[in-house]
Parts: sequence; C-alpha cells; structure tokens
Amino acid sequence: MSKDFHDQGPRRVGQVKEVTSLANPIIKDIKALMNKKSREESGTFLAEGLKLVIDAIELGWTIRTLVYAKAAKSKPLVEQMAAKTVAAGGLVLEVSEKVIASITRRDNPQMVVGIFDQRWKPLRDIRPKEGETWVALDRVRDPGNLGTIIRTADAAGASGVILVGEATDPFSLETVRATMGSVFAVPVARATPEEFIAWRKSAGVSVVATHLAGAVDYRTIDYRKKPVVLLMGNEQSGLPDQLAREADALARIPQQGRADSLNLAVATAVMLFEARRHLLSLAEVK
Ligand code: SAM
Repeated sequence: MSKDFHDQGPRRVGQVKEVTSLANPIIKDIKALMNKKSREESGTFLAEGLKLVIDAIELGWTIRTLVYAKAAKSKPLVEQMAAKTVAAGGLVLEVSEKVIASITRRDNPQMVVGIFDQRWKPLRDIRPKEGETWVALDRVRDPGNLGTIIRTADAAGASGVILVGEATDPFSLETVRATMGSVFAVPVARATPEEFIAWRKSAGVSVVATHLAGAVDYRTIDYRKKPVVLLMGNEQSGLPDQLAREADALARIPQQGRADSLNLAVATAVMLFEARRHLLSLAEVK
C-alpha cells in the first residue's frame, strides 16, 4: 500500500486530486482491494455506483476515498458526496473513464466508486430480542449466494447475518454487488463453530437449522417463541453434525421434482419469509 492511501491526516483533508494515469500509486492501491489480503490489511472495501455510495454515507459508514469519472463531475449528487467525503476527512479523486474502468474491471463502469471502512458486528454484542430473526451461515462459499442472502435478510426484516467458519468475504466486490447496497444495512458478524455454539447457549435464541434430512416441515415450526436463528448449511456438504446437534429444530423444505436440494440463497429466502409470516401474525394478535 502506498503511503498516500493510508495517510488521511490533516495534510490531505479536503484535497481533491485529478488522476489520469493507471500507474498512479493510489489507483494501484484501490485496485489491490480486489484481493482479500489487501482488504484485510487496510480494513477497507470498494462499493460501486452512486446509489450505494449515497446509501453508505447516509447510514453513517466511514468513507475513505470517493472516486468519480470526470463525466459525472457536474451531477449535483456527486458534488454532494464529494463535499461529504471532504468534510469527513476523506480523499476525492476525479479520474478518467479509463481509470475508473480499470478499478472495477468493467467495460461499462459505474461513474462513482467509494472506498469505505469495513464494519463487523462483534458476536458478543448480539443479544437478540423478541421478534428478531438472525441468519447463521455455515462456511458459505459463493459470493453471489452471500450477497443475495444479505439482500434478502434486509428485505425480510432480519436483524443480521452471522458467518460461521471459513466464509467468503462479505466485502468482496462480487458480494457487495450482489447485496445491491444491503451490505450497508445488515450487520454481519463472524465466528468459529465453537464460538457460535458458546454464543447460542447464552443468547436465549431458538436455533432452527435447515437440513435435507430434517424431521420437521419448516411450515409447522413456531418462530415466535424466542428470537430465531436460522442456521443454513454449506453449499456442497450441508450442515455438519457439530452444528446440526445444536439445533432446536431440524427443518426441511419439502420438494418435488428431480432437484436434490434448493440453492442456499433460495432456501434461506424461503425460511426468512416463513419466519416473517409467523412474526407478522404475532404482531396482529398483539
Ligand atoms: N449437498 C448438500 C447437502 O447434502 O446438504 C446440499 C446443500 S444445499 C445446496 C445448501 C443448504 O441449503 C443446505 O445445507 C440447507 O441448509 C439448505 N437447503 C437446501 N434445500 C433444502 C431443503 N429442501 N430443506 C432444508 N434445507 C435445505
């Protein structure tokens, strides 16, 4: 990482730089955020598009760098985001289309890109309350699945997502793209299987795990008794016994046809909206 990229100290506050060279060290550092190692080292990530940048800033995420293509310069919303970035002590880069295309590796690039601080919810701070639903994902591998699940959790009113075990990065460009901005609205925590098991014992939650060999039809479960954690298995191997043992219920979504299972994100969506249906009916009773 170049010194420039991290040096957000007083000297740089309010500075707007014009960049046209692909070899510029700040651009190289931004492009390096495609790699997980660079994201981890810097604790930052990339979000593409003006809508996502606006969502993130409005939700209080810390912007480090705003990059926009020259052609977008006169848009009032871009100007506003640039002003907010400067006010927050961030760096604003006005770049050529060639440069922005090289950052996002797209032929039709977005005109605006933001670099934000990552935000992880500490597991110990998650104390689910009545009526809350959380999603726990065992070793989720596919960025598209994770992004879709974060987006669906947002749409279904879930409280957050817990990544259990070695998981794909919620802050990779592919995942962030697939969340369509929900990555800024849904808290994400991470845990080893052991940490998750210890947490669930003290969190006062009901763990509803989904399993192809589940004994219970998912529609017959009462999702209203306690806060619910929907525990979903890995795409290839499903839920390991170590986690399945922890479940209060092993739920199955009855299927027909030749498919042996549902896609992970689809199964999670089915579960989330079933839990939501139960919770909405509870709210009506109250
Ligand atoms: N071969 C894997 C297996 O044996 O479990 C398939 C995993 S499936 C693609 C990914 C996850 O989605 C499963 O672990 C489970 O959590 C959930 N899932 C998919 N279809 C399901 C169904 N019909 N009933 C319950 N859970 C399901």
